[in-house]
Amino acid sequence: MPNKYFDVLVVGSGPGGQSAAITAAKLGKSVGLIERKPYLGGVSLQTGTIPSKALREAAYLASRFSAQGMREDSARQIIKESFLVQTFTLKERIIKQQESALLSRLLKHGISIIPGEACFENSHTLAVKNRAGVTEYIKAEIIILATGSRPRRPGEIPFDKSRVLDSSSILKLKKLPERLIVIGGGVIACEFATLFAPLGVKVSIIDSHQQLLAYLDQDIISNLTEQMQQMGIRVHLQTRVTSITATDDQVNVITDQEQQLTADVVLYALGRQPNYDNLSIDRANLVNDDNGWIPINEHHQTSEKHIYIIGDLAGSPALASTAMHQGQWVTEFALHNRLNTPNKVLPMAIYTIPELSYAGETEQQLQQRQADYIVGKVSYSETARGMIIGDQQGLLKLLVEKSSRRLLGVHIIGESASELVHVGQMALNASATVDSLARNVFNYPTLAECYKTAAQNVIDQLEQGN
Ligand SMILES: Cc1cc2nc3c(=O)[nH]c(=O)nc-3n(C[C@H](O)[C@H](O)[C@H](O)COP(=O)(O)OP(=O)(O)OC[C@H]3O[C@@H](n4cnc5c(N)ncnc54)[C@H](O)[C@@H]3O)c2cc1C
Repeated sequence: MPNKYFDVLVVGSGPGGQSAAITAAKLGKSVGLIERKPYLGGVSLQTGTIPSKALREAAYLASRFSAQGMREDSARQIIKESFLVQTFTLKERIIKQQESALLSRLLKHGISIIPGEACFENSHTLAVKNRAGVTEYIKAEIIILATGSRPRRPGEIPFDKSRVLDSSSILKLKKLPERLIVIGGGVIACEFATLFAPLGVKVSIIDSHQQLLAYLDQDIISNLTEQMQQMGIRVHLQTRVTSITATDDQVNVITDQEQQLTADVVLYALGRQPNYDNLSIDRANLVNDDNGWIPINEHHQTSEKHIYIIGDLAGSPALASTAMHQGQWVTEFALHNRLNTPNKVLPMAIYTIPELSYAGETEQQLQQRQADYIVGKVSYSETARGMIIGDQQGLLKLLVEKSSRRLLGVHIIGESASELVHVGQMALNASATVDSLARNVFNYPTLAECYKTAAQNVIDQLEQGN
């Protein structure tokens, strides 16, 4: 027998769950938000996005990468023994402030926060067991699952929280290692490799693909790989790890290229897996597919139409930004059948040092669909701001459809790429042409001027009949 009832029950307080709960409350519904951890915010606030970005900021500011151009003398001395402890304190302060702001927002909207681990009793009722072992049964009209994901931890990898780490445990290191091996060539792997290398850690990265971040354009990734190598990172591509053995004082990694690499710490960063094991989804008549995901339709509805899935639990692109966005539009759809079609083009950011960001299509995708496009590139060093900040290798690239002159993609590597990309994303969502970018007036001196110069570059090529 349920002892409580809500119009909407949301499971998980990460960016997806928060946004869904607040949206439902704003639409006048009674909302319960269930969270099993003793804190709010999910992976995004507590163990992933914010901790890693806070650490990245400290690494960036302490390294020579922020001390170029007119900032040459600003790099601070890195004290290896205390760097992580110092940044940990600052990071904790930011997390606490964010968590308290989140709690205020949830309470302001009258959302009931229910501590405990949820699992289905039936398709409309969740059993929530709190830390004191008390279970309550809560029924709802609509259930939104936002339980996120966790690092993939294959059985054969000897994870031990001290030498063989995943993306959560590496953020708890107290002292910088001398040597780090990163296994994987995706976003998290590349972000951690470039976060530790500028701090004087000897980093090797091992990936089975031909290039890191294999789905991105080769010129952008060559630029990144070159900068990684310049900071001393050893990049092993087309290489697979065959064994990892940890001893008391080091870890040995053997590859299929017959290399033996040794380090103090290994980061295994190959994929994440969805968190639904404890939800007893079968009691709600839900089943996972062969790839381990619960199938959903384009409105994020499961086969039980009143149960929705958002955020990392829904799969790619597994970003906090998209989880928040889904929380809003999926909830509006669930409650009002209102289909606020989500923005077509989403921004993607990879917080490596240097940053990398993009929106729209890649050249690889355009070539696959045989699009007739033109490329306009501009280096940061062609702008006054680029010279002042000393980012010589920064680059912005526009991809433009020849016939319509419409922007198809924007790709940026260099300082503030994750901010700059939004100009391109807005242009893409507005189906803007290259001419509107070329005519726009940008502040001077800024890196955003790269848009104007790259657009002019495309127009020149179009006029020459390229
Ligand atoms: C190292 C790292 C760096 C990242 N950097 C970025 C970045 O720079 N930008 C970006 O956009 N994204 C980044 N991400 C991804 C981002 O953190 C996730 O996409 C985002 O947190 C997903 O949000 P979510 O709401 O789906 O789930 P989560 O944030 O994972 O939250 C899920 C919540 O559900 C709770 N929960 C799970 N099961 C239950 C249950 N049965 N009952 C009750 N509660 C439950 C969990 O305790 C958790 O609090 C990063 C991830 C990692 C690991």
